[in-house]
Amino acid sequence: MMRNWEDYVRKVTPYVPGEQPEGTDIIKLNTNENPYPPAPGVQERLKWLSADSFRLYPEPDCKTLVRAIAKHYGLESAQVFTGVGSDDVLAMIFLTFFNSEKPVFFPDITYSFYDVWAEMLRIPYETKALDQDFLIRKEDYYEENGGVIFPNPNAPTGILMELSEIEDILLHNQDVIVVIDEAYIDFGGTSALPLIEKYENLLVVQTFSKSRSMAGMRIGYAMGNEKLIRFLNDVKYSFNSYTMNRAALLLGVEAVQDGAYFEECCRKIINTRERTKSELSRLGFAFGDSKSNFIFATHKSIPAEEIFEALKKEKIYVRHFKKPRIENYLRISIGTDSEMEKLIHCLERIL
Ligand code: PMP
Repeated sequence: MMRNWEDYVRKVTPYVPGEQPEGTDIIKLNTNENPYPPAPGVQERLKWLSADSFRLYPEPDCKTLVRAIAKHYGLESAQVFTGVGSDDVLAMIFLTFFNSEKPVFFPDITYSFYDVWAEMLRIPYETKALDQDFLIRKEDYYEENGGVIFPNPNAPTGILMELSEIEDILLHNQDVIVVIDEAYIDFGGTSALPLIEKYENLLVVQTFSKSRSMAGMRIGYAMGNEKLIRFLNDVKYSFNSYTMNRAALLLGVEAVQDGAYFEECCRKIINTRERTKSELSRLGFAFGDSKSNFIFATHKSIPAEEIFEALKKEKIYVRHFKKPRIENYLRISIGTDSEMEKLIHCLERIL
């Protein structure tokens, strides 16, 4: 007999994260992780973490970490929301704020989780094509919509939008929530954070996964008007009270407090990125002016997929998206200087 339970399944096409290959001799430049360890205080604090404390639930309001993040940015705790990586924070934002009949707007080439959340949550959306140089056209976001979201710098292009253009988009969108996903902002961009004082409908989302070397701890946060943060918390508490675990809450505090180490790491990655750009252009690659911890590059004669496979054989992992407009591009995360040198040597052999 045919059963019809399958008709009532929430069927989704999931987001596909980059590969996490095993092994010690690989060079992993495929998921934009930081090649440097977290701040020394994180390792130190880890030594004092007691397994016995795991009997107890963590703080539901994540207040220790929220307070540390708020202090770092000169905000009130009531202006900060934390979650299990910025993916969790962004998913909560989609669930909380994108409830209009009108479509949410985001670029056609962008973080490929946005359309997955929209599909899963049955949120109408419309993508806006980047121009031929892969820039976001601010005018595309003037039409009436159900919300706006994009990363700055954009992913996977790495291209930064000026703050004046972001403010222009905000000026044209005061009746919906505007979300700036700043996963990569610390590698040379200017944060839209100061604008939260002026625009009560703006949320700025950041993460500890990239510039703070803590992708494995899963810590993300949103900053915005108190009212927005309250609405986000209401939904979070209606979904899962204890999102962040005890270790992440404690170790996150250590990471956010070490400003000097953070700046040193970002500076090293920026320097390596700029050196890698010169090497890649010497080898015949073209790319936009990335201000993130990756370079999105296409080669003048060899197809991206071929280079991707050849690098993989050499145990160098980069990211290739089989998607319209970008199938001939590779997204190369910035590793240490020595990892990037090996990549360049390997490319010299392949090309
Ligand atoms: N936003 C963008 C643009 C990203 O590239 C990523 C990384 N995949 C995220 C958000 C999510 O990062 P995380 O959940 O590790 O904070």
